[in-house]
Amino acid sequence: MDIVARGLEQTYLSGGRPLVVLHAVDLTIPSEGFVAIVGPSGSGKTTLLGLLAGLDRPSAGTVTVGGQQLTSLTEDQRARFRADNVGFVFQTFHLIPTLTAYENVLVPLELAGKAGDGASARAHELLERVDLAGREHHYPAQLSGGEQQRVAIARAFANRPRILFADEPTGNLDAETGARVVDLLVSLNREARTTLVLVTHDPDLAARAHRVLRLAGGRIVEDRPGAARAPDVAPDPDGAGDVAPQGSGASGGAFELGLP
Ligand code: ADP
Ligand code: MG
Repeated sequence: MDIVARGLEQTYLSGGRPLVVLHAVDLTIPSEGFVAIVGPSGSGKTTLLGLLAGLDRPSAGTVTVGGQQLTSLTEDQRARFRADNVGFVFQTFHLIPTLTAYENVLVPLELAGKAGDGASARAHELLERVDLAGREHHYPAQLSGGEQQRVAIARAFANRPRILFADEPTGNLDAETGARVVDLLVSLNREARTTLVLVTHDPDLAARAHRVLRLAGGRIVEDRPGAARAPDVAPDPDGAGDVAPQGSGASGGAFELGLP
């Protein structure tokens, strides 16, 4: 799903005075794109992500996702749209404290009305993939920060989202776990053709994006290609000169993300 933002502005009231934290941001992220958003603390990264995901409403401007203008939907309609299409990894995890790790991963499946037979297996598989097979019945308070982050990542994947937003997804992880999470995100983009929009301070993660946007003071001050090349949309029929995306066409891989 593609994402188009036009004239996106966000203004908060701070001590009764307006504080502009995003200034007329224009942005197009193609379907199946992988964009990393970087920039100093307070530059508006989390605010922008929340607006693109339809979690918040902008003060001005529009967000259109897969042809659907989110900014004209009601709160309930946006919630429905997110349940069907969007995965989100929050900077502060937002796990439900009264549910176990396993139950937290099931939540998006329940919200989307997919709590059938496959749901339980998928939740177990996702937790295994983020190395939490032994922690499924722990509550968030019984997990370390890095473990909670991995539950949040498993939960975001549960519903095979068309778009995954992640706010510093490797911020609380050690290098080795972080590298595995990066691999997982990249494989989601490649194999399940999920559009990925990440905020990150991690140069290894940003380097794997197709495009890197830099925010400063609520404005996009740089928009450059990442080290990774976007996959060709329409490969040559004879394949000459094309490198098949890693894992494409293979079934029964280590982790079958699958298409929605
Ligand atoms: P980043 O994620 O880049 O660190 P944020 O998007 O979280 O930045 O915040 C951008 C600016 O907006 C910051 O100065 C922050 O203090 C301010 N801000 C964020 N949310 C609110 C809010 N709900 N009310 C008032 N100010 C806010
Ligand atoms: Mg932030």
